Amino acid sequence: MASVTFEQVTKRFDDFVAVNNLNLEIEDGEFLVFVGPSGCGKTTSLRLLAGLESITAGQICIGDRPVNHLSPKDRDIAMVFQSYALYPHMSVYENMAFSLQLQGIKKGEIRKRVQGAAAQLGIEKLLHRKPKELSGGQRQRVAVGRAIVRKPAVFLMDEPLSNLDAKLRVQARKEISKLHQDLNTTFVYVTHDQVEAMTMGDRIAVMKDGILQQVDSPSNLYNHPSNMFVAGFIGSPAMNFFEVEQAISNGKPSLKLAENLISIPDYLPQFMVDGGVTFKDRPLTLGIRPEDIYHPQYLPADIVTIAIKATVNLLEMMGNELIVYLETANQIEFVARFDPRATVKQGEALNVLWDVNRLYLFDREMETVLM
Ligand code: ATP
Repeated sequence: MASVTFEQVTKRFDDFVAVNNLNLEIEDGEFLVFVGPSGCGKTTSLRLLAGLESITAGQICIGDRPVNHLSPKDRDIAMVFQSYALYPHMSVYENMAFSLQLQGIKKGEIRKRVQGAAAQLGIEKLLHRKPKELSGGQRQRVAVGRAIVRKPAVFLMDEPLSNLDAKLRVQARKEISKLHQDLNTTFVYVTHDQVEAMTMGDRIAVMKDGILQQVDSPSNLYNHPSNMFVAGFIGSPAMNFFEVEQAISNGKPSLKLAENLISIPDYLPQFMVDGGVTFKDRPLTLGIRPEDIYHPQYLPADIVTIAIKATVNLLEMMGNELIVYLETANQIEFVARFDPRATVKQGEALNVLWDVNRLYLFDREMETVLM
């Protein structure tokens, strides 16, 4: 077990900055997930930690030890790659034993570790098979087993589930979470899949264009995103965004969304209510998640709402939820997630209800959250 620290870490490929001044402390035993769209720098961050890429500037520590100049084998880490990278000519047993043999560990100890890991992963009966004789899920477990036997201080995983079908991925997700609990070791995990990140991570580091946007618990990322990128990235369907203007309605500060005036509730920050100092006259963007928009017949008790009149453009019945694409008279489009029992027809006009306590407000230019 060990903590991991990125201190002002930058990685350049020629002129291109793939990781830009990354500061991140991963606690001993934590499950930290790097997430973000393709090309955001998450794999490069992991490869810097693994020692597979050199660091342009800054320092990485594993425990108290700076590792910038240590080769991968001396960093006390084990990595599971997206491709699994199993040796095709070796059996499962040999694949799992190989790195231990290189370390000069005695045969009896190797057998004990391989059999222990195989039992933990339910692959004892596959030890004699070659990788080509395994299913995708079995190969993934062998790759994990090969990491476990090394008893590293830190496990690094780069999209280890992306080659599995949807059902197997859900199962493998649970298995890796369970493994983390059992091993009680630091895990650093890379994925582009926000569901994987939300279900597995103790904390999630969201990256964009090489820059860490926010690192937080899954529920804080969902409920308190620090900017529009994180707000839009976490949650599916994604948060709806609208350009709004500040206005005064009946003497009270309001937000104007086309012809709809949304009065600003009293609990909102003083800068808006008192006429504003900092953000007065700044362009604003309003956000609301699809699940915070309700069909009038399925409104939970105690929710304060505003009604927005809209026409149904498209419906997606998912069984457990009804995804509804709506449009106001002035062509403002948004998505709602309704109770699946709601009876809604394409082309129908209805007053949908927005939960005013779940509205987000962003500075449109800086993209930072205001509320
Ligand atoms: P993906 O999910 O597609 O793997 P990622 O977030 O993991 O994306 P990285 O692999 O970290 O992204 O790459 C970040 C950026 O750095 C990308 O624009 C990529 O093209 C660039 N990059 C990565 N490796 C190299 C390299 N060896 N030489 C030049 N550019 C590179």
